[in-house]
Amino acid sequence: MGERRGLLLVYTGNGKGKTSAAIGTAFRAVGQGLKVLMVQFIKGSWHYGELDAGKMLGDSFQIRVTGRGFVKIGTEKPGPEDVELAERGWTEAVAAMHSGAYDMVILDEVNYAIHYGMLSAERVVADLRARPEHLHVICTGRNAHPLLVEAADLVSDIREIKHHYKKGVKAQRGIEY
Ligand code: ATP
Ligand code: MG
Repeated sequence: MGERRGLLLVYTGNGKGKTSAAIGTAFRAVGQGLKVLMVQFIKGSWHYGELDAGKMLGDSFQIRVTGRGFVKIGTEKPGPEDVELAERGWTEAVAAMHSGAYDMVILDEVNYAIHYGMLSAERVVADLRARPEHLHVICTGRNAHPLLVEAADLVSDIREIKHHYKKGVKAQRGIEY
């Protein structure tokens, strides 16, 4: 076994699988006895399966939801309320990173929050660089900011080749939510 070193992972791109990849990594980490926190920066309209599955894992996998829901792209710009919620979520996430309670922190949709101006990329990257050395962090969401890409140890760009939505298949329980 090698030396323990905290990594910064980014899952981005327009294909489906970013949050799923983060949860898959969390599942693996929990199996290794690591403690994981997932902070969701954008709340979806569904009740996601991972919220309940997380509870089944006890203290090993915690999820905190912040944000008021999807800001519809193109039709609605994030308002002051969204900015405030994202900032509060970020402050909480930074505190959690320094609490010593977690080995891995997932910042789900933090890329979205940055892209839509709810969080400053400079600030996020500075805080990530200043995190405890052992801590793994996973950032998800489309349009990863270049500063975050530069700071990351690993970046995977998940590209859409096909998606069942395109042929009219609705979101399926256990796949989408
Ligand atoms: P998942 O949570 O399923 O891993 P994701 O995190 O990669 O997806 P998001 O950008 O967070 O994707 O979008 C969340 C929702 O949008 C999911 O229900 C997903 O199925 C759907 N979705 C993701 N990618 C696409 C796509 N290319 N076309 C249509 N819908 C998509
Ligand atoms: Mg996602």
